[in-house]
Amino acid sequence: MNTCMALTCLTCEEDIDCRIGYSNRRIQPLAFTCPHCDSSLGITLDISRAPASDFTYHGCKYSDKQSKGPFVGENPFIDLHLDFPVRAGEYVMGNTPFLMAISDIMQALDGDGDGDGDGQKAHEMFQFHSFHLNILNTLCEKSEEIKRVINLYLGKNKKLFQKRAAEFLEEPEVTSLLPEDVNATLYKVVSRAFLPFTVFAHSAEISKEMPKFMFELHPEKLIEFINQLFESNFVTSLHRDVLKVYPRILDAELSLRPALFLDLTDNNGAAKAATRISAQDFSSIKDLYKDIVEILSRQLVIVAGFNNLMHRHDANSFPEINGGKLSDLQKYSTKNLSDKFKYLDDCWYKIELKAFNLDLRNAIAHNNIHYNGTEQNIAYTPNGGRLEQVAEQNMTFLQFMRDVLIAFREMHNLNHVMKSIFYFKYLILDKRAKAGK
Ligand SMILES: [Zn+2]
Repeated sequence: MNTCMALTCLTCEEDIDCRIGYSNRRIQPLAFTCPHCDSSLGITLDISRAPASDFTYHGCKYSDKQSKGPFVGENPFIDLHLDFPVRAGEYVMGNTPFLMAISDIMQALDGDGDGDGDGQKAHEMFQFHSFHLNILNTLCEKSEEIKRVINLYLGKNKKLFQKRAAEFLEEPEVTSLLPEDVNATLYKVVSRAFLPFTVFAHSAEISKEMPKFMFELHPEKLIEFINQLFESNFVTSLHRDVLKVYPRILDAELSLRPALFLDLTDNNGAAKAATRISAQDFSSIKDLYKDIVEILSRQLVIVAGFNNLMHRHDANSFPEINGGKLSDLQKYSTKNLSDKFKYLDDCWYKIELKAFNLDLRNAIAHNNIHYNGTEQNIAYTPNGGRLEQVAEQNMTFLQFMRDVLIAFREMHNLNHVMKSIFYFKYLILDKRAKAGK
């Protein structure tokens, strides 16, 4: 369903033609930049009383000059839809974001470009996307509850954590406060609450394969490695920082929705066309990307330790690179992210390199980044700030959200590697230590 209306910007008093495509989210806060004066404008659609549509306006109002028929092109035109990438440009009757999304899927499926994309397959893929969006529509109503549960895990009162987690999961409360049982609840909450953002099969596979992988490693050297991770507090503080990212993903939900759609088109079509997002909050999401990449960089220390164990039976034993050798993991942990990849020889874990846009990360860290809301363009200079001409790189806000999503998924997958480390400690090391006393 779509509604077309003209809006008047309260700042410049000029009109904008809008076509609003309906999502099934109960509250739909749409945001865009005034094409006349660059002011931030918003329109919130509330479908609680469906079939009625309740609109509230922010920085704009319903225009007194509505066109009787279709838009005639007097005003700049904007498509808005929470769930799909929308195109910039002229109004074309019928080319709604929903139909353009279907056409993008057809195009992605039609590899040879002869126009015979598989309609049935496209339909199935679309159903898959809708399935995720429907879960998201329910979960976003529980966003505060999810944040509270994660926060309780980080606090001291684990009994209350189990209680509130059980309420969220709608399952009987786990009364055990043993760390392995508390952790099992945590991972269940996280898997359930972030299902639409993650690729469940990936994390499930890691959870299944990790124990087998670990039992093939040199047992004493593995224990030494896991002990090192806990004694230095490395894995505990890393885990806490990982968990702090999850609530921020919920905060970025609106802008992540169209990025989820790109799963279906494999980043083609929609990403390459001048496509946009109908909810904008670049300034609050900018640091999220940088922070996730920082965490990934720390998670690589764990990947490296396992890799060394597998190849050289010692977590601290690195391959020789350009005639030099790193002394140990501690030294590795101080390396730049770009250097860290060099030491992962024939790695056991398939790292998603797309999760690491180092130029973008550097540009954000040094504040060499500029966002243009009207164009939804992000211009960044990785080595900016120096008194010299440096090349500027550009990406759309949609591509940026795609990068956030991919980085988050990699962090989430590596969080499942961490999960196995915790179980190993609780079920093997701690029990051994107890038996030894
Ligand atoms: Zn304006």
